[in-house]
Amino acid sequence: MAEKHHVIVGAGTAGINAIRTLRQLGDKGPITLVSAEPPYSRMVLPYFLEQRISDAHATTATPVQLERWGVECRFGVRPKHLDAGGKTLHLDDGESLKFDNLLIATGSSAVRPPVPGADLPGVHSFWTMADARAVHQHIRPEHHVVLIGAGFIAFTILDGLLQRAGKVTIVEVAPRILPRMVDETGAAIAAAWLKARGLTLLTNAKVTSLAAAGKQLTVNLAGSPAITADLVLMATGIRPNLDWLADSGVEHGDEGIPVDNKLRTGAPGIYAAGDVAAGPNRVTGAYEVHAIETTAMEHGRVAGANMAGGHEVAYPGSVLMNIVSVAGLDMASFGTWDDEHAETIIGEAPERHAYRKYVFQGERMVGAIMIGPGTQTWSENDVGMIKGLVQSGQPLGAWKSWLQQRPFEIKKPYLASRTTRALMPDTILGAPSISPRG
Ligand SMILES: Cc1cc2nc3c(=O)[nH]c(=O)nc-3n(C[C@H](O)[C@H](O)[C@H](O)COP(=O)(O)OP(=O)(O)OC[C@H]3O[C@@H](n4cnc5c(N)ncnc54)[C@H](O)[C@@H]3O)c2cc1C
Repeated sequence: MAEKHHVIVGAGTAGINAIRTLRQLGDKGPITLVSAEPPYSRMVLPYFLEQRISDAHATTATPVQLERWGVECRFGVRPKHLDAGGKTLHLDDGESLKFDNLLIATGSSAVRPPVPGADLPGVHSFWTMADARAVHQHIRPEHHVVLIGAGFIAFTILDGLLQRAGKVTIVEVAPRILPRMVDETGAAIAAAWLKARGLTLLTNAKVTSLAAAGKQLTVNLAGSPAITADLVLMATGIRPNLDWLADSGVEHGDEGIPVDNKLRTGAPGIYAAGDVAAGPNRVTGAYEVHAIETTAMEHGRVAGANMAGGHEVAYPGSVLMNIVSVAGLDMASFGTWDDEHAETIIGEAPERHAYRKYVFQGERMVGAIMIGPGTQTWSENDVGMIKGLVQSGQPLGAWKSWLQQRPFEIKKPYLASRTTRALMPDTILGAPSISPRG
């Protein structure tokens, strides 16, 4: 039987993990990788801003590796039209590719609010390698940087900005910071910590326009005095890259592409993975987009395994998680941390800037928030244990009321519920990973 031709669109986390998996499982079919950018990890771009790594360290597959895997690359090229029924992808350089399997892994793009001046020179997003290089090149120790948006992505670059600029001001339209990552109590602890370390935080602050005078920028706000800045960063949300699927025959909405637990779209032979795919949520069973690295990696591996043929892999679903550290304060949330109707266990230790919220469904932990200084030894270990409890859904039995008395002591309930044992055989492909040659 002739080998199947796999076309992968997008060389980010999902796309490269699919290719890796295809070769790991011994699939010898030709692979063509079509991507606007070469392979790199967006998640490590904050470390480049912090000057802890060079831009080359963000690469996830070198040309040599791709050649060893027998991947035909089309970088700097985008699809113009997908004909799902005819199994043909037309590219914007005039080439047309016939495929047996196609993976849609085009991720997302940063969006800016539609205000005058949002595209002025000196106003940057921080989503691509080109964005990161531009900020790295322009930022100066004497600069006042205004960061618009106080969500998870803004927080991933905050340490870099605090290290590289003289002054940082955050402008957030919501009444509090991290509105989609932690609750009000958690946000208040984080805000106090950051203000004490010199950061200016403006909440309930709506940007109406930006203006430039020479190299200085002015950020105009509704009902508050304008702010002058040397550099403005916008971290105001993302949207999936799906424009090229218009009239393709692949069903999708503004939020993403519905896929089943094998990462198949409704069109035969066409898969979707990562930020573009609305896959299963492991905790709730709902189907939704989780625009995070772990989901992109897992989606890519499951899609790759199912594209390989002879390897039916069902995906149990992703766990929503955000973990970030700013100025020494660790912040994390998992699963359904924001379920207002669920039973919760709360732990607060204001003198230690520490906070815990565990969300329960019966005896199972289905969501959590954790905040505390990274210098406290429990911090790093506890993140992993809380994540494990939410991911495994192990029942805690009597340890739930034990935790109620001692919310900061997660280790005993974790061990007693045999969570490690439950997670050990839990591999994405149902077998231990073996690295493909190269
Ligand atoms: C600064 C930053 C920090 C982050 N930190 C974290 C973190 O700490 N934890 C976490 O879980 N997640 C984090 N993320 C999010 C994470 O990086 C994304 O969820 C992940 O990259 C998604 O992987 P993906 O493969 O779906 O898409 P991407 O990695 O975005 O890859 C998409 C690929 O498709 C290509 N492409 C796009 N459009 C087209 C097109 N029309 N035609 C051809 N090719 C196209 C792109 O060039 C790219 O190669 C961070 C993101 C950023 C920007």
